[in-house]
Amino acid sequence: MNNIRNFCIIAHIDHGKSTLADRFLEITKTVETRQMQAQYLDQLELERERGITIKMAPVRMNYKYQNQNFILNLIDTPGHSDFSYEVSRALQAVEGGILLVDATQGIQAQTLSHFFAASKAQLKIIPVINKIDLIQDANLLYKLQEEIAQLVNVKKEEIIFASGKTGEGVEKILNALVSKIPPPKPGNLKLGRALIFDSFYDDHKGIIASIRVTDGEFKLGDDVIFISNKIRTKIKEVGYFTPKISPQNIIKEGEIGYLATGIKNTKQIKIGDTILAANQANFSYQNLDLFALEGFQEPNPVVFVSFYPDNANDYDNLKKSLERLNLNDSALKIEAEQNEILGRGFKVGFLGKLHFEITAERLKREFKVNIITTFPSVVYKVITKDGEKFITRPEELPSNYEEIWEPIIKVTIITPVEYLNQIMSLYNKFRMTNITTKILGNNLEILTTMPLVELISDFDDQLKSATSGFASFSYEFLGYKKANIEKLDCFVAGEMIPGMSRFFPKENIEKEARKIAEKLKNLLPKEQFPQAIQIKIGGKVIAREDIPAIKKLLGNFGKNGGDRTRKMKLWQKQKRGKEKLKSLARVKIEPQVFKELLKK
Ligand code: GDP
Ligand code: MG
Repeated sequence: MNNIRNFCIIAHIDHGKSTLADRFLEITKTVETRQMQAQYLDQLELERERGITIKMAPVRMNYKYQNQNFILNLIDTPGHSDFSYEVSRALQAVEGGILLVDATQGIQAQTLSHFFAASKAQLKIIPVINKIDLIQDANLLYKLQEEIAQLVNVKKEEIIFASGKTGEGVEKILNALVSKIPPPKPGNLKLGRALIFDSFYDDHKGIIASIRVTDGEFKLGDDVIFISNKIRTKIKEVGYFTPKISPQNIIKEGEIGYLATGIKNTKQIKIGDTILAANQANFSYQNLDLFALEGFQEPNPVVFVSFYPDNANDYDNLKKSLERLNLNDSALKIEAEQNEILGRGFKVGFLGKLHFEITAERLKREFKVNIITTFPSVVYKVITKDGEKFITRPEELPSNYEEIWEPIIKVTIITPVEYLNQIMSLYNKFRMTNITTKILGNNLEILTTMPLVELISDFDDQLKSATSGFASFSYEFLGYKKANIEKLDCFVAGEMIPGMSRFFPKENIEKEARKIAEKLKNLLPKEQFPQAIQIKIGGKVIAREDIPAIKKLLGNFGKNGGDRTRKMKLWQKQKRGKEKLKSLARVKIEPQVFKELLKK
C-alpha cells in the first residue's frame, strides 16, 4: 500500500486538467500511443464536442520512480460550479490533489472554491502553473507563483511550472505526486470495506460502482452487503479503470476500482453508501451501521424544468431516455407530471443551469428525443395562513399566499481590476446585495449575494461580455429570503401557456411584461390565424401584442373558382379549432428560445 498514490486534478474550467491527464496516460503508457486522442478521459460525445468534463473519470497508472513501482490512481474532475458535487465525491476518494492554474488566466473563481474544498478534505495539494508554453514574460510567472504560494501556503519553489501541451514539467509533477502525497492510510477493519463514490450503468453488467477500498479486500465471488439497505449479493466482477474497466480477481485496501454485482436497479446502489465484504468475518446485521463510512450529502436539485415530448407519441421514449440518463447521473431528480396542453411529461430537478442545458442536449442528441421545455425555475418557499410549502413552478403558487421566499446564493467573482465598473453595472440588473471586494494578486475578488433565479437568467453570459471573458465566478447556496416578487402568466390566443409563468420583482414588473410580450411576438411562429399575446398578473392584462396570421394562405386557391374556395374556407374553419390547440402545443420553447426570453 505504501506504493499507492491516489489523487485528483482540480482547477477552473479550461485550465488544462484533461490535457495534463493525457500526458500522464502517455508517460505511464496506460494508453497506447496509437489510441491516444486529446482529452482522452472525456469520453462522452458532448464532453468531446464542448471541450468540457461533465463526469469524473478515474484511471489507474503504473509509474516507476527511483527504481520503485508505484500505482497512481487519478480522478479527473469537472470544473464548473454545477458539478461541484461530483468534485466533492472525488476528493473523498483520494489523499492528494494537483491544483492546476492556467498561467494565462491566473487564479480564477473555481480555482479558489475547489482549493478550499480540497483543503477541507485534508488533501495534500501539489500546486502547478500550467500552459507555460503560452507565456513569454517570466516575470508574469513569478508573480503568479507568489500569489499561489500565498494561497496554498507553501514555499514558492514548490510550485511546479508545466505545460500539458508540450509535456514540459509533467514528469516533475509525477515525481512530486509520489514523493509528497501520502500513501493511503491503513484501514482498521479485517474485512473488506469500501466507499461508493460514483456509479454508472452497463447493459450487461448492471450498475457498476466506483469504489475506494478503505479496509481489507474484495475478491471475485465474495459476498458483499450494502450497508444502507442491507442487500446482500455476490461480486460478479471486480477490477480497475485503465481507464476502461479492466476485470481483476481482487482489489485491495487503498485502491480505487469498481465492482459489479448484477444489480440493475439504481435505487439499490447508492453513491455514498458503504460496501462490506460479508463473508470474510462474522458480524451481525444489527450493528451494520457502525461500519458505515462517512458518505456524501445528497445533492439538492436547485433548478427545475419540465420536459414534454414534442410529439405525444414520444412519451415512452422520453421516459426511457430520462431513466437511462438517470442511471449515470444520480443527481437528476425526475417526477412525472401532466399538463392540459402539453400532455404527459416530467418535472426534472438539476444541480444548475449548465446541468439542465447539458441534459436537454443529450436527450436530443444521444436519444433523438425532441422535447419542449418550460422555463427553468428555482424552489420557492410560500407562506400561507396554513403554513409554508415549497413550490418549484410559479403555476403552483396558491392564490391565498402571503409571502414568497426565494433562494439566495453567495457569488464569488474574480476579475481583473479594470472591469470593476462594468461588473457594478450588473448590480441592479441581477439584484445583487452586500457587495465586498478584496485584492487578490492582479485581480479583484468580489463577493456578493443574489437570488439564485438571477443566476439562471443570463448572468454568466452578461458577466462574460461585461469583462471580455476575463471574469469567472462560483456560487454556493446561502438560504431563503423574503422576496418582493409577483407572478406573470403568459396567454397566447386566450390560453395560458403552462410552464411560461415566471416571478418578477414588483418594482419593474410592467416593463418586464411588455418585454416578454414583444419577445414572444418575435419568437413564436406565425399561424393560420392571428394570435393575441397577453401577459397577466392575477386576471389582469398588463401587456399585449398581436401576432398576425400567415397572409397568403387562401390566395392561390382563388384561381380555381368560387366553389373550391368556399370549400377550402369551410375546411379551414373546421380545422381551425384543432389547429388552435395544436399550435399551442407547438409553442416550442426549445433551449434557445427560452434562453432568448431569459435574456435581460
Ligand atoms: P480542463 O477543462 O481543465 O479539462 O481543460 P482541457 O484539458 O480540456 O484544456 C482546455 C484547453 O486548453 C484545450 O483547448 C487545450 O488544448 C488547452 N491546453 C491545455 N493545456 C495546455 C497547455 O499546457 N498549453 C496550451 N497552449 N494549451 C493547453
Ligand atoms: Mg476536463
